[in-house]
Amino acid sequence: MTDFQSLGLSEDLLSAVAENGYDAPTPIQAKAIPLILDGKDLMGLAQTGTGKTAAFGLPLIDRLLEEDKRPLPKGTRALILAPTRELVNQIAKNLVSFVKKTPLRVTSVVGGVSINAQVKRLSRGTDILVATPGRLLDLVDRKSVDLGTASYLVLDEADQMLDLGFIHALRRIAGLVSDDRQTLLFSATMPKQINVLAKSYLKNPERVEVSPTGRTADKVTQSVHFLEQKTKGSFLVDQLQSKPDGMSLVFCRTKHGAEKLMRKLAQSGIAAGSIHGNKSQNQRERAIRDLRDGSIKVLVATDVAARGIDIPGVSHVYNFELPEVAEAYVHRIGRTARAGAEGEAIALCSPEEIGLFRQIEKLIGLDITVASGEVPPMSAAAARTQRGGRNKGGGKPSGKKPFQKRSSSGDNDNKSRARHQRRRQGGRRNAA
Ligand code: AMP
Repeated sequence: MTDFQSLGLSEDLLSAVAENGYDAPTPIQAKAIPLILDGKDLMGLAQTGTGKTAAFGLPLIDRLLEEDKRPLPKGTRALILAPTRELVNQIAKNLVSFVKKTPLRVTSVVGGVSINAQVKRLSRGTDILVATPGRLLDLVDRKSVDLGTASYLVLDEADQMLDLGFIHALRRIAGLVSDDRQTLLFSATMPKQINVLAKSYLKNPERVEVSPTGRTADKVTQSVHFLEQKTKGSFLVDQLQSKPDGMSLVFCRTKHGAEKLMRKLAQSGIAAGSIHGNKSQNQRERAIRDLRDGSIKVLVATDVAARGIDIPGVSHVYNFELPEVAEAYVHRIGRTARAGAEGEAIALCSPEEIGLFRQIEKLIGLDITVASGEVPPMSAAAARTQRGGRNKGGGKPSGKKPFQKRSSSGDNDNKSRARHQRRRQGGRRNAA
């Protein structure tokens, strides 16, 4: 088995690793760390919860320490972009634990909180800046940060960056970072657009992959219950009450749906909280804290709000509603079984969702175990959805292959997806 010593990390980092309780590198760490230390651009494909943050964070910190430079006022030596506030905070927290005994400074900036404190913190410069793209551009426009001195750029959850319509912000930001930089791009799933994105950002990248694209975390047991939409609420209450010791995340498609479901659970005596775009940053952080410390047992979430949150001990992930985009399923269930623990992913599938369900099975390359209910027949509309041609106008099926629509038409497709996403997010770039 590989150990951290053999990866080429310096003594400072090895002691940080030990203090974090990491005994051995995860597969993505074992593969990525030596390449990053070597100065290579990298495209990393790894499941969620596989230790990606340390895979790029440790060698990045090592290189910054080795350079022995100080950041210039308003400058940053390395820039890490992530799609959500929660993920940015999560990454920053991890990195802070690695740099504790070094002179390096880690700063994070996200939307939804006062910009003035961030302006002040950035004024003296930082070694590593972790940011959501929207808030970062606000700071750039105020001339509060200078990205020209950054010689490392990391894009985390790159697939989600595209999904959220961040591509224009990303292009702008990448244009501001030094051309002579090392770029690291990480993604759990690999839609074809990521390849296009990768080409425009990376120079002769090494590709490391620890599991086939879209494969779900190995230790997650997956099952599906087929039932009518209107019975899902009481079914979930029964499920949650039968596992009083579990810690559960429940995914809904909309903010409104998540809030309504949270109230239903609370009325049934289940200690539940919710996290979605209508919640302030403080409310979101409190909900995550409540779940972590056990004051609530269930967190009802929308996809973007839950992205990147790392709560050790999540035992069950419920897909109360299946996601519109199959890749989101992989991200959702990656919230459990993190770093080697075991977890259970339970999907509740209504007859209307069967097309989405089949898309998910196709993506992950598995037949999900049917735990209860009758497999509903594929309606013509569901069959169209599964084939990837979401023919909302009711015309003929497109005959496109699954995901062809998402990946074939480049920029225009991105633009319309971005518009769609912005509408769904109420025009906000950083939050769900
Ligand atoms: P990440 O994929 O970076 O979100 O990491 C998922 C979880 O795994 C976090 O709680 C990390 O602290 C933890 N982790 C990362 N690397 C290791 C390792 N080598 N050994 C044990 N835990 C790890």
